[in-house]
Amino acid sequence: MINNIFFIIFPILLYQMFGALGKRNFFVSHRVTLTILFSISIILCMVFPYQIMTDQYIFDLRQVPMIVGALYGGPLVSAILFLVSAVGRIAIGGDGMYIAILNQFVVALGVPFLRPLYMRINRLEKVGLVFVVSILSLSFNAVAGYFLFGDPFHDVVGIWLMLMLNQGAIISLAALLIEHILRQEYLLSSLVKHEKLETVSNFAASVSHELRNPIQSIKGFVQLMKEHEYSRDKQLEFYDTMLSEIKAADQLIEDYLVFAKPVFAKLETVSVKTEVEHVVKVLKPFASWQKVEIQLLKNGGDAHILADRQKFHQALINIIRNGIEAMPAGGTFKIQIKQSASKVAIILMDEGIGMSKEEVQRLGEPYFSTKSKGTGLGMMVAYSIVRQMNGEIGVHSEKGKGTVFNVEFPLV
Ligand code: ADP
Ligand code: MG
Repeated sequence: MINNIFFIIFPILLYQMFGALGKRNFFVSHRVTLTILFSISIILCMVFPYQIMTDQYIFDLRQVPMIVGALYGGPLVSAILFLVSAVGRIAIGGDGMYIAILNQFVVALGVPFLRPLYMRINRLEKVGLVFVVSILSLSFNAVAGYFLFGDPFHDVVGIWLMLMLNQGAIISLAALLIEHILRQEYLLSSLVKHEKLETVSNFAASVSHELRNPIQSIKGFVQLMKEHEYSRDKQLEFYDTMLSEIKAADQLIEDYLVFAKPVFAKLETVSVKTEVEHVVKVLKPFASWQKVEIQLLKNGGDAHILADRQKFHQALINIIRNGIEAMPAGGTFKIQIKQSASKVAIILMDEGIGMSKEEVQRLGEPYFSTKSKGTGLGMMVAYSIVRQMNGEIGVHSEKGKGTVFNVEFPLV
């Protein structure tokens, strides 16, 4: 029985270990993975069944992934899980085969109808519902097996009640576990969203400030041309300057909008250098507003890593933004990309206020902030994104001197 419980819990935990940030609603929207994981559960449960109370009755917990899978995945997942368990059950053969397959069919057909209801109710009601479904399914087995196939009616109290409590408890546990994981993901992704909104609104002021320059310069030229008569050559020169100012303003808005826009997660191979350059561009208005110059130190290599572009930007922006904010009197923020045989490191250096050992240790802890208007979420988001990308963040900081972040990723 412990084996069976393990086969059910393990794929769910496996998902939690590998589930990527932002894959919210995984059990609802990643049906393929769900189907594969639960099919493995079903097969393992059937291959290693257990006996309950007496030698005559062999039992396994395959109904748990079937019911839970149908509830979270819907009709198609349910149909595939039915096929897997039916084929498995036929392969095992034996007396109870027909009733078992009939039962699986009824479960696979009926449970998806409960899905809309299931998605609406709260956690406790969900646990109650899966418990009831599980008991109904076992009762169906007992009663239909007896009447339709003349299966022996095992001792009701001794076996069926035990089975019902047994399977009911485990299916409730599985549902609770999934709900718990979903809730954690929901919280994490809303924190990420919150942090991004915070950054976006924080940048808005600096972007509009930065837009003032090209607009002022265009305004100046228009006034000049209105007041004086210029030669055609001079005019053309003015037009060119104005055009390039307009282009710069346009590009600024474009970069900002691309950053602000929410997009769906997509993993792709990206060039570290190109992405870092893009991030520098997005941060430039904010940096110059804080009198900070961002320097991207020259280097040769063009390393590629696997990343969700937007998330990668977000992680870098959160770290660099902290560095800029750590230099209230302005300064230089240096970025260097270093490639080794299997890794690429992005080194982010500020010459700001630095951190004490305790502060470095608390970095990444949610809501840890030393700023009056800080959220304390930026580093938590950065750490979780980098971890999802199989990367690592190293920090070296000295109070009053500055901070170096070393963000490493494996190469593709
Ligand atoms: P917030 O920026 O909203 O305060 P973060 O999670 O981004 O939240 O950062 C948490 C805290 O870590 C900051 O309040 C600051 O004290 C410290 N910190 C992060 N990066 C740096 C840095 N480059 N230099 C100095 N302190 C930093
Ligand atoms: Mg921050």
